[in-house]
Amino acid sequence: MKNVKDIMIKAREEKILIPAMNTPYPEMMKPIIRAVADTNSFALIEVARVEWEKFGAISTEVIYREYEKHRYPEHVRLHLDHVPVIDEDGLRVDYRSIIQTALNLGYESVMIDASRLDLDGNIAAAKEVVNIAHARNVPVEAELGAVLGHEAGPLPPYEELFSTGKGFTDIDEAIRFVKESGTDWLSVAVGSIHGAVSGAAASEKKVTARINQEHLAAIDKALGIPLVLHGGSGIDLANVREAATHGISKLNIGTDIRQVWEKTLASSGNKAAEDALYERVKEIITDELQVAGSAARLLV
Ligand SMILES: [Zn+2]
Repeated sequence: MKNVKDIMIKAREEKILIPAMNTPYPEMMKPIIRAVADTNSFALIEVARVEWEKFGAISTEVIYREYEKHRYPEHVRLHLDHVPVIDEDGLRVDYRSIIQTALNLGYESVMIDASRLDLDGNIAAAKEVVNIAHARNVPVEAELGAVLGHEAGPLPPYEELFSTGKGFTDIDEAIRFVKESGTDWLSVAVGSIHGAVSGAAASEKKVTARINQEHLAAIDKALGIPLVLHGGSGIDLANVREAATHGISKLNIGTDIRQVWEKTLASSGNKAAEDALYERVKEIITDELQVAGSAARLLV
């Protein structure tokens, strides 16, 4: 069976989006995997450090054990999302031990996020993780540019961010980054923003973001590797689908499905939350991203 690295390369060639669904609560995994399988599509399940620090994911191990119970490699694989070198509160993180633990458990791809360091620091951290992960045949995602939103405190106005291109991934830096770090996939900043993870904003609706397609296309042409779009909840849908034609192979979806889970769980309990999440994931795959049936095309 194809590994995730080959599946992502195929997705880029075929211009098919792979949704990467965040599971800040382990109970979210079962309905998500069922929806992915029932639509004959392919998705990643992922968990980020912030989701066991600030939400209910508990640990990489708890998420892995839940994944083992529902494992379905023809449709889903498990990815370790953001392991920051410096976290959203500005604190240093022991990223090596987190990534090593995930590799030992059997995570099938991992992300190192040193995007809060300068370019040389970001390259050095990514390269180090690439060496550790590649020794286990596990592909690595890194991030270059500033996909804002996780930080505490208010964001600058979205239109100002978009029109100035502040924090967007620089093409020359990206060429150097990929060459020197050896990263397999690159998370780029081209207009999307992360959902809030703290305060009242974490349960509010996100601002609708757009993608600078020309800039994305130029990055894609320069790099030739699968690109990743973070902050997939609340991007204009036509923009998201067009991004898949410019190298975006993996789309991270966190806030949207987390809020469906949390709100339904609070009002109507566990069974209703499972049903609501299942329906929402089906809708995202079928109607919004239009990738139903993708498993057959990606895994051949
Ligand atoms: Zn992200």
